Amino acid sequence: MKILTSFLLLSANLLFAQTPKSYYLTADRIFDGEVMHTGWAVVVEADKIVSIGPKEKIKESAGSIKINYPNSTLLPGLIEGHSHLLLYPYNITDWDTQVLKETDAYRTARATVHAKNTLMAGFTTARDLGTEGAGYSDVALKRAINEGVIPGPRLMVAGRAIVSTGSYGPKGYDHDQEIMLGAEPADGNDLVRVVRDQIGKGADFIKIYADYRWGLNGEDQPSFTLEELKLINEVTRSSGRVMVCHAKSKEAIRRAVMAGAETIEHGDFIDVETGKLMKEHNVTFIPTLAAVDMITQYRGWKKGVAPDPANIVNKKKSFKAAMESGVAIGMGGDVGVFPHGENALEMELMVEYGMKPMEVLKAATTINAKAFHLDQQVGAIKEGLKADLLIVSGDPSNVISDLRKVKWVMKDGVVFRNEK
Ligand SMILES: [Zn+2]
Repeated sequence: MKILTSFLLLSANLLFAQTPKSYYLTADRIFDGEVMHTGWAVVVEADKIVSIGPKEKIKESAGSIKINYPNSTLLPGLIEGHSHLLLYPYNITDWDTQVLKETDAYRTARATVHAKNTLMAGFTTARDLGTEGAGYSDVALKRAINEGVIPGPRLMVAGRAIVSTGSYGPKGYDHDQEIMLGAEPADGNDLVRVVRDQIGKGADFIKIYADYRWGLNGEDQPSFTLEELKLINEVTRSSGRVMVCHAKSKEAIRRAVMAGAETIEHGDFIDVETGKLMKEHNVTFIPTLAAVDMITQYRGWKKGVAPDPANIVNKKKSFKAAMESGVAIGMGGDVGVFPHGENALEMELMVEYGMKPMEVLKAATTINAKAFHLDQQVGAIKEGLKADLLIVSGDPSNVISDLRKVKWVMKDGVVFRNEK
């Protein structure tokens, strides 16, 4: 039986993997993660980038496969900073129903397709911020991708994530019912046990909801005390992992930063002062503009026809304040709220909200790689890094939506998409 299993695994691997090859890549433009070059070439051998530079200096090895598309741009594989592969758009099925009525098995079946769509869109790495009621299905998904059983991005996963008692949903059900929550509740000293339990079950980092919309009038208010966040961070750090925080209100952001969070998710009410505090503590901001934009549209906003509602006006204002503060801004859209594979929507909105396309490209490559401690592996086209590469037609440093014109995707030296 054991022999049969490994034979099946091997066959599954062969479906996606190819024997190690050498590639000689040229494109009209090559973005290395920092700078856009013209007239350059890249050599890939097996799963690594072995050289990059001006064409005349970069020799192709005998028998290498030549890749060139007309009017194209070659980039590092993009990094999605905030995904939920176990969720799909709320205008198809609302969040409560996904969490409460769909089995983990059903949700995982869908997630395999979401993972494939993410990779095919050129996102070769994704940080997944919680399964929202699907247990540790993300850990299993990551394993299946790593083993070559299914195609998908390289994953860093949160598992269940942690919320304070009373703060999180689904809400509004009769209290006689025990309602399963979208994350794991814990408080006080019990947080020590829960953090360790999540780590033991496969969490690559610990995701905390540092605030939630549970204020008297439904406004975002902190859910954990500073002491609780410090305790979570201490236990997380001692395992070699990091704490990241969902935080929209200024006070929750402040507590998260002071407690040692590495990234702040959403940050809807960031002002210049808060942004500066984050910068001082080397914290990266993940804005999730697309989630706010799409949820507002699901609620009836006719974008482009009707004026911006208050929450959109606020989101634009806080994004500008973050840029002004100089805090590192990464890229993460909260994809899952909108369709997996349309991750570039977040990058289009970053441009729409005032960031230069080149800065947006850096956010989804070098800045995310550094923020997630992956910069020795991915996020740039540099000798020795993993061969995670993307070719699009057009020039996304000029027109950001050219990122949607995906021609070719490579992860770990394996070609997953190869358009004519
Ligand atoms: Zn999220």
